[in-house]
Amino acid sequence: MRHIAIIGSGPSGFYAAEAALKAFGDEVAIDILDRLPTPYGLIRAGVAPDHQSIKAVSRRYEAVARDPRVAFIGNVEVGRDIGLAELRTLYDDVVLAVGAPEDRRLGIPGEELPGVFGSGAFVGWYNGHPDCAGLAPPLDAAGVAVIGNGNVAIDCARVLAKTVAELAESDIAGHALKALERSAVRDIHILGRRGPYQASFTLKEVGELGELERATPVVRPADLPDPAGDAALETGHRRVVEVLRRFAAAGPDPEKPVRIHFAFFHRPVRILGTDRVEGVEVALTRVDEAGNATDTGETRILPCGLVIAAIGYRTLPLEGAAFDARAGRFANADGRIDAGLWCVGWAKRGPSGTIGTNRPDGFAVIDRIRAEGAPAAGRPGRAGLLAALAGRGVRPTSFADWEAIDRAEVAAARPGAPREKIVEMAALRALCGA
Ligand SMILES: Cc1cc2nc3c(=O)[nH]c(=O)nc-3n(C[C@H](O)[C@H](O)[C@H](O)COP(=O)(O)OP(=O)(O)OC[C@H]3O[C@@H](n4cnc5c(N)ncnc54)[C@H](O)[C@@H]3O)c2cc1C
Repeated sequence: MRHIAIIGSGPSGFYAAEAALKAFGDEVAIDILDRLPTPYGLIRAGVAPDHQSIKAVSRRYEAVARDPRVAFIGNVEVGRDIGLAELRTLYDDVVLAVGAPEDRRLGIPGEELPGVFGSGAFVGWYNGHPDCAGLAPPLDAAGVAVIGNGNVAIDCARVLAKTVAELAESDIAGHALKALERSAVRDIHILGRRGPYQASFTLKEVGELGELERATPVVRPADLPDPAGDAALETGHRRVVEVLRRFAAAGPDPEKPVRIHFAFFHRPVRILGTDRVEGVEVALTRVDEAGNATDTGETRILPCGLVIAAIGYRTLPLEGAAFDARAGRFANADGRIDAGLWCVGWAKRGPSGTIGTNRPDGFAVIDRIRAEGAPAAGRPGRAGLLAALAGRGVRPTSFADWEAIDRAEVAAARPGAPREKIVEMAALRALCGA
């Protein structure tokens, strides 16, 4: 019997488990640990609440979690409740699938001011992650700056721009819906250092901004490059640029009170304010043939009461696992950190790619584990873990406990919504008897 511990129950953890089930048949016992009693990582806490069809991928993970060879062990944080070194004595293989939960910092003056958040925290707030439920982002000023030119920046802008009616069928956390109902936000600036050719938005995310009830996209025609260059773009990107051209040609809809400004060629240099954010000072840039941005010498101040930095994430180091501080993820060679210690997903590659990108990672790591041959017998696996946790008063939760949380959330849903998320750790634990 091979005992595998997978740390983290996001997509990469579940794909690794699925691969291990296929690779090892009846000769495997897989434990998927998570610090939360709720599984699925960023499917629950990252993917936008108004993109329910994407969240449906969790159905596939459910089938894995219900397999008798698999146990979901929630409410156990590796590095706090049990160390990595100890886990490695209990299991033949430990696979780190812990994602990249830490927001990358802007590294500019004023970043510490109240009202500046990383997108991980802001998204965690509207998605009801227990760590972020108390965030209370200020929504009392007209201006918001969202820094970054990827889909996460668009998610943040769209959620801020939507009406309560538009969010009715989403599973946005109740506290966020209440706060957004009273929001004074009117001008949302999506800041990118470079231009439309360098942005990493995808078509669906950009297109949706043209279909909002009370919000309208604003693209400055002067920011769009000569259309002759579009032919060299990859198809998906070309379509994104076409949509931006359409927005620029149509101009903002004057009937709509909320504007989403694509502020291309804007490099934030300083967050302004005394007790809280009052604005962002931006250096205007131009981009050369090679795609590099240089300042033009002009600056601009964007008044805003909230700044969201959507510029990427880092994995948190874990004692006992080699870490690449520059890249912000575990130091690994194709997923291998050390003998019997592996990583997958964002913890392996860094924070890029879609949910599906994590699947080949999981399968590749399990292939490599299989290639190492049969393990020496004698590791205790789950029995050893549960004994160690009991000895220090940690109460792990099960997949059946998550199903009880799920039922309670579905039962409490607002009309039309799929669920009302429970956001307090104490309340989640209480439902599990933990
Ligand atoms: C805001 C946002 C929106 C996104 N939207 C989309 C989208 O629409 N479509 C798409 O394809 N992709 C989307 N993605 C990307 C997708 O979510 C990721 O590719 C994927 O979640 C990465 O999976 P992962 O398993 O590596 O990490 P995660 O999903 O982050 O899972 C990590 C898990 O590890 C657990 N964990 C962390 N540390 C510990 C510890 N010490 N002990 C125990 N457990 C721990 C966490 O609780 C978490 O459950 C989005 C990402 C973000 C940030």
